[in-house]
Amino acid sequence: MNGNLYDLLAARFPADPVAPCLILPDGRKVSYGELESQSARYGALLKEAGLKPGDRVAAQVEKSPEALYLYLGCLRAGCVFLPLNPAYQRGEVEYFLDDAKPGLFVCRPEKLEEAQELAWAARVPLVHDLGERGDGSLVAAAAEMPDSFATVQSAGSDLAAILYTSGTTGRSKGAMLTHRNLAANAFVLHRYWGFRPGDVLLHVLPIFHVHGLFVATHCALANGSPMLFEPKFDARRALRLMREATVFMGVPTYYVRLLQEKGLTREAVAHMRLFISGSAPLLPETFAEFRERTGQTLLERYGMTEGGMFTSNPLEGERRIGTVGFPLPGTEVRVVGDADQPLPAGEIGQIQVRGDNVFIGYWQMPEKTQEEFTPEGYFRTGDMGRFDADGYLAIIGRNKDLIITGGLNVYPKEIEEAIDALPGVAESAVIGLPHPDFGEAVTAVVVRGKGGEGVSAEAIIAELKGRIAGFKVPKAVHFVGDLPRNAMGKVQKNLLRQLFAG
Ligand code: AMP
Repeated sequence: MNGNLYDLLAARFPADPVAPCLILPDGRKVSYGELESQSARYGALLKEAGLKPGDRVAAQVEKSPEALYLYLGCLRAGCVFLPLNPAYQRGEVEYFLDDAKPGLFVCRPEKLEEAQELAWAARVPLVHDLGERGDGSLVAAAAEMPDSFATVQSAGSDLAAILYTSGTTGRSKGAMLTHRNLAANAFVLHRYWGFRPGDVLLHVLPIFHVHGLFVATHCALANGSPMLFEPKFDARRALRLMREATVFMGVPTYYVRLLQEKGLTREAVAHMRLFISGSAPLLPETFAEFRERTGQTLLERYGMTEGGMFTSNPLEGERRIGTVGFPLPGTEVRVVGDADQPLPAGEIGQIQVRGDNVFIGYWQMPEKTQEEFTPEGYFRTGDMGRFDADGYLAIIGRNKDLIITGGLNVYPKEIEEAIDALPGVAESAVIGLPHPDFGEAVTAVVVRGKGGEGVSAEAIIAELKGRIAGFKVPKAVHFVGDLPRNAMGKVQKNLLRQLFAG
């Protein structure tokens, strides 16, 4: 059997080629038959341009149907898809091109000149552009290609994609994902979340990231379902579209924004069967408020670029607040101590994962890769967590976020929860800043909420003193209008550290 992910997905496409695959904002529909013929054209184009299986194709483009055809065309030609966040600036793109040495770089039309310069310097032989309205040289060239293409034979171990980690800490690393990695996760999630005939996915996530490109898209394709394929998330519009959709996947910020819409009612989401949240921590308030307003319980799951999804709350049964649920079938998840020894339920430790979905290593970083895997083949996620007695996993924070103050460990999440519970506080981020005595000083950055005008740093510190151990109480509290977040809703603590370090 061909281990090529495209073929594995296509085997599940609807028998009727006119069945809709993408439903676009202007009402235009792309059928599954068209998806096949378009991805064939892109596959043929890559082959004709001289790209061989294993060659990288970097794409820094806006979300569009053509961007999806390019991804699928890459799979079909055996090339390795390398999506880049359009927010990346010149210096960052320079690094990615130089590191990955793609055979083709696809850029946005307005960046063509810069892209050509960067490509020249990095010895990338070919550049095309692709605009968000299906314009650009890539589309013109693909249109000249035949509409059928024999998907190459791939082994499960062949590379399908390289995704650079979002880099909220340190230099971005290219996570190498194989056809087997992606297929394993796609089919497990499809089953675990109960995808069924009649499902319609509301797809508002970006497609340069694991969440939108793999988790969302693969589930819909594996189900032969239509996607309401939106260029970006707009809360009001999403609410309207929920009348025709059944499944929604979002980052926590999307749920916060939905809750700000008066139109978010039980009635407005009556057609929906499943709301999934992940990629960043979901606040318990958001979970509770969403349930109150809509009668629907958010399903929180946990994963990362380096392996897709690892755990999920169940479809049936209790979705436990503040947890990311159980290990997914086929993924082993353990919580370990500093010597990699498994810890019993209730204890906090590092989360490690192993399974067919877990990536095979970082591109051209054999040493880093070796460091990040245990001898038994578990990947060190860098996240800290704890299993409860019923087997639900809770994420306690990032390893690297851990603050060590006066030799004592402080998990920011615990302090953030204590601060968030104070009246007049909307949310907070807790970071460690260099301190001459303590090594690091616990520092809180707070966003005031409704009625919070009078909340002061002194008041927060005084309140916390009664609730948590003294060494955990922030030495300083700063106020900001908003916390800086990356495209996936993660708080960029590195920026906060820079801002307040002085
Ligand atoms: P990324 O590779 O960009 O998807 O980021 C992965 C990281 O996001 C994980 O290592 C976690 O730190 C975080 N993350 C993902 N899902 C969750 C979740 N449900 N709760 C808390 N953190 C999460």
